[in-house]
Amino acid sequence: MNVDTLGYLGTATLALGCAAWTAIRAAQHFDRLFPAPANDASGFHGGAAAARLPHGVSMTASALRHGLPELPQRMRALPVDSRGYPVPYFAQRDGCEPDYRRCDSEKLAACVYYKRCCICGEQLGQYKAFVIDALSAVTRTSSMPPAHIECAKFAAKACPVIEKRIGVSLVWVARSYESEQLDGGLIFRMAEAEQTFWYIDGRRANRDEVRSSFEDSLPALYDAACAKSAAAVLELDTMVARATRCFPPHAAAAFVEQPV
Ligand SMILES: [Zn+2]
Repeated sequence: MNVDTLGYLGTATLALGCAAWTAIRAAQHFDRLFPAPANDASGFHGGAAAARLPHGVSMTASALRHGLPELPQRMRALPVDSRGYPVPYFAQRDGCEPDYRRCDSEKLAACVYYKRCCICGEQLGQYKAFVIDALSAVTRTSSMPPAHIECAKFAAKACPVIEKRIGVSLVWVARSYESEQLDGGLIFRMAEAEQTFWYIDGRRANRDEVRSSFEDSLPALYDAACAKSAAAVLELDTMVARATRCFPPHAAAAFVEQPV
């Protein structure tokens, strides 16, 4: 390689650098002119919706169903369905009305690979909150990817599909999870819960309600374990005992917390 060739390479590198710098400056200029897309993960504390909307102001407030709990800030840019419920990010929207029972496969992929909240669509932080049923506290698995804690709490309190499908719902807050393919679908294996919040009928569930729902679910699990082996039953015993440690505290306990 002679001196001329090195000179050409140097000039070309400099030209490419200038072009890239110009492109970045132009992108920043247009970014300031136009608002970020609704589910953009960039931005500041609270994500794109929080960056655009002042605290307490909701784009969807007028269309929201009366009686819903306060909408978390990150969910305020979501569209609203004909009944007045915010449409979660994951919901499939083939027709006019979203189908809450089916995940949009592209959005599911974004939740898994880009760590987006499955409800508001914005970037997740260090805590991942899963909305699950009592049985899933034993198996520590979820069929849905995680959400922000506030988004998950809102879904557990206000989502009629969740209430109808699982009755007592649990928000399981962990720092990590693993996803794996199972029977043609994805399953999420949750790490140890750092916090748990139980809900029923749009409010916090008490210990008796949780235990009742839990006991209703157990026979099916034990039937399956019995069909496998005695070792599987022993393992299930351990898993059930571990899950009961997540129950709400006794009402008589002096330290009973009653957060929202
Ligand atoms: Zn969220």
